[in-house]
Amino acid sequence: MTLSGNRLYDLIRSRAPEGRRIFADLGDGRGVTYAEIEAGSARYANALASLGVAPGDRVAVQVEKSIDVIMLYLGCLRAGAVFLPLNTAYTAAEVDYFLDDAGPKLFVRDPSRSDPVRTEGGPVVMTLDAAGAGSLVDLARAQPTTFSNASRGPDDLAAILYTSGTTGRSKGAMLSHENLAANSLTLVDAWRFTSDDVLIHALPIFHTHGLFVATNVALLSGASVIFLPRFDPKQILAVMPRATAMMGVPTFYTRLLREPGLDRAAAAGMRLFISGSAPLLAETHREWRERTGHAILERYGMTETNMNTSNPYDGERVAGTVGPPLPGVELRIADPETGALLGPNEVGMIEVRGPNVFRGYWRMPEKTAKEFRPDGFFITGDLGKIDSDGYVHIVGRARDLVITGGFNVYPKEVETEIDAIAGVLESAVIGVPHADFGEGVTAVVVRRDDATLTESDVLRALESRLAKFKLPKRVIFVESLPRNTMGKVQKNVLRESYRAIYGAR
Ligand code: AMP
Repeated sequence: MTLSGNRLYDLIRSRAPEGRRIFADLGDGRGVTYAEIEAGSARYANALASLGVAPGDRVAVQVEKSIDVIMLYLGCLRAGAVFLPLNTAYTAAEVDYFLDDAGPKLFVRDPSRSDPVRTEGGPVVMTLDAAGAGSLVDLARAQPTTFSNASRGPDDLAAILYTSGTTGRSKGAMLSHENLAANSLTLVDAWRFTSDDVLIHALPIFHTHGLFVATNVALLSGASVIFLPRFDPKQILAVMPRATAMMGVPTFYTRLLREPGLDRAAAAGMRLFISGSAPLLAETHREWRERTGHAILERYGMTETNMNTSNPYDGERVAGTVGPPLPGVELRIADPETGALLGPNEVGMIEVRGPNVFRGYWRMPEKTAKEFRPDGFFITGDLGKIDSDGYVHIVGRARDLVITGGFNVYPKEVETEIDAIAGVLESAVIGVPHADFGEGVTAVVVRRDDATLTESDVLRALESRLAKFKLPKRVIFVESLPRNTMGKVQKNVLRESYRAIYGAR
């Protein structure tokens, strides 16, 4: 019996379908029912309690994707602990930073990782592997299948997710039960999820997209997920006939487009394809529509705010935009320096307020205060505009803005022009230190397979399209752009690689 309320877990329970319904189809013939998820999460909650994890304690988790991780996440919610997933790519030295910063009571890692972590005075270390084995699993298996959930109110923390930290120290975004509950409910309605849905889940679960957007939306609609360890385009095509929806990053879509098997017949049973976490090229949107008959629904969010905007389910899904703000989310564009509000079609800082917005950065009250306006709007760090139809357009991260000879150049504008040149697959525009201009606009371009495009071809094509100050000073050709696991182009890596090309410091 639940003695008192647990905001997020009670909500998940209240929306769960009858227990025999499959929650996760593991793609290999095995299925995990909702009843098994309930029992498994109780076992993990009991295991956490037996290790002395109390409400409010952090549980850091750096493991491969498996259904046990979902049960552990839910077990954390039930035990009142704060779930703290870490990217599996982090090295031991990086993990040390997170363990120091977050001070978790328990650290769960893959048994194959033998690199030492500092454990003196630190957390209890337990293991869990991709196949569902490890010391924590053994402990959980021996536990009862019921648990008296810890009392957790709307403002209590459910999770801390560290931001990628490309501009300095990684920051722990504190997400409350209400942040996650409110946003997931909004998304279930906006995207019309029901218990008839079968969602392809091939995203990592250490990030907000796979952990909260995909998993919580499925749980709160009583849907099933086809739970795949990683993205493999052939496997996606193989399971698509059993699915109704997919959530992915843009690279899922570009890579699927390279599969000859992707056609209308393959996608006939699907009702919805959603993209986010990085910009989807308008061309990908168009090609996808031609091949499958489906308009990809693009949405925009971030670790700190959950989802902010979404193209409509029923209305027009406009390529190159992320749609209007979601119900309950207030979004405005402000002058980055003064905070003065800007009008339609004016580019400025995207600011958001609503029940989706996080509780601040873990143990960084000053940093947190700097990122909020006095009236409670969060300064996202993304530049964008709202068009006259109310759709939001993202221009890029503020830190990627190039300032050359005193002029602002929005990389997206230059990239859009470059991408439109025949023979260009994609591009990234960055600012590189330049003695005369401060920063020199620099284009890094990936050619299509058979293209023989040169630097002067690109510059000639741009001359009539862009003001002179926006023209790249150099065009560099590469085989591919560096991307992180969520498909984001790592402009910091590019800036570092080409730091010296103009000879300035
Ligand atoms: P993360 O916190 O890792 O989810 O990264 C959030 C950032 O990804 C946002 O602040 C945006 O810069 C970017 N982002 C997310 N969705 C989109 C989108 N649909 N289009 C463009 N950028 C996006």
